Amino acid sequence: MKLIGPFTQLLTMRGLNLRGSLQDDQLEVLTNAAILVAEKNIIEVGNFDDLRKKYPSANVEYIAQKTVALPGFIDVHTHICFAGDRANDYAMRLSGKTYLEIAQKGGGIWSSVQKTREASLDELASLIESRAARHIKDGVTTIEVKSGYGLNVAQELKMLRAIKLANKNSKADLIATCLAAHMKPRDFEGLAIDYLENIVKNLLPILREENLTNRADIFVEKTAFTIDEARYYLAELQKLNFDITVHADQFSAGASALAVEFDAVSADHLEVSGEAEIAAIAKSNTVAVALPGSSYGLGIYHMTPARKLLDASAIVAIASDWNPGSAPMGDLLAQAAMFGIYEKLSAAEIFAALTFRAAKALKLSDRGIIEKNMLADFQLYPLDNYQQILYNQGKIKPFAVYKNGEKI
Ligand SMILES: [Zn+2]
Repeated sequence: MKLIGPFTQLLTMRGLNLRGSLQDDQLEVLTNAAILVAEKNIIEVGNFDDLRKKYPSANVEYIAQKTVALPGFIDVHTHICFAGDRANDYAMRLSGKTYLEIAQKGGGIWSSVQKTREASLDELASLIESRAARHIKDGVTTIEVKSGYGLNVAQELKMLRAIKLANKNSKADLIATCLAAHMKPRDFEGLAIDYLENIVKNLLPILREENLTNRADIFVEKTAFTIDEARYYLAELQKLNFDITVHADQFSAGASALAVEFDAVSADHLEVSGEAEIAAIAKSNTVAVALPGSSYGLGIYHMTPARKLLDASAIVAIASDWNPGSAPMGDLLAQAAMFGIYEKLSAAEIFAALTFRAAKALKLSDRGIIEKNMLADFQLYPLDNYQQILYNQGKIKPFAVYKNGEKI
């Protein structure tokens, strides 16, 4: 057993509602606190001196500086399995070029598809590992990773196998999601619906056989798949018992209703969701995932209406959407901090959106809260008050990150 502490403040995230608004005075903030760990799990949380007396044989990992401890962050939406970059797209966006103009000049998702197809499985795995390592430094201990730049059976399999390999080598937990339905590939001869049928018949069974993922995503948008096409695909996924997540309501509303209809674990983006969409999500068990990083990356002013969603009693998570095109930054805390000040989210709501509410979107009940029996995933900031974390707008990073009880 190992006793880690003392912490000036320990933010446990215990005892908070899964849905709806939160006030900061609801946060449990322990002072002179410590975490007792055995193997992967938290055994007890409490006062440092009390725990030292109660467990005299525990090894003490003494923290000799001011420290705020909180749960490791959970990033529930990333596309970090890719090769190449799209810095040239970004330069064109800076100069005012539109999405269409960028695509016509050889940019856009398709350029990432080409680069990713050229990369080997091992190359992709090491790219994922290095991005995951960057995320770990920022306090992120669980990372969802989507496929979606392969866009045929063999290439999507390569991506998902690369994610599986990277998960074996990474200190963070990587949760794979099949996003073969990112867009209809340019080189597929046939209709979008034929492409989806091909994925259903020829890819999904292998995902099961090789245990690559139980999660599947679809991008519903004018440039990707229509509501009707998505309805076919989601019905097939539901028959096969896949956990469903949807890229919804980013530029045009409609797909969030579909996510609710199919009991999706999450509906992500929602930048243009209106009152009706917000009300429907709020009534459901589908987690609303805000992706401010893509608004920052695209330079658009509309963002996920997180304040309205919370006031309507929705479950709200915040994720990075880290990807080579629309969200290249990949700094989850900085994005959440900036998003919070625009949307008027309390610190409690922001931290909940990065921890236990995010865990719900991945159906993980063993993390996101610092309490007995949970995984010992937590991070330590060189500060003496949790408010300073958001006050510094993401600039101050943790000086130590623990995953499964080990400092990584
Ligand atoms: Zn995305």
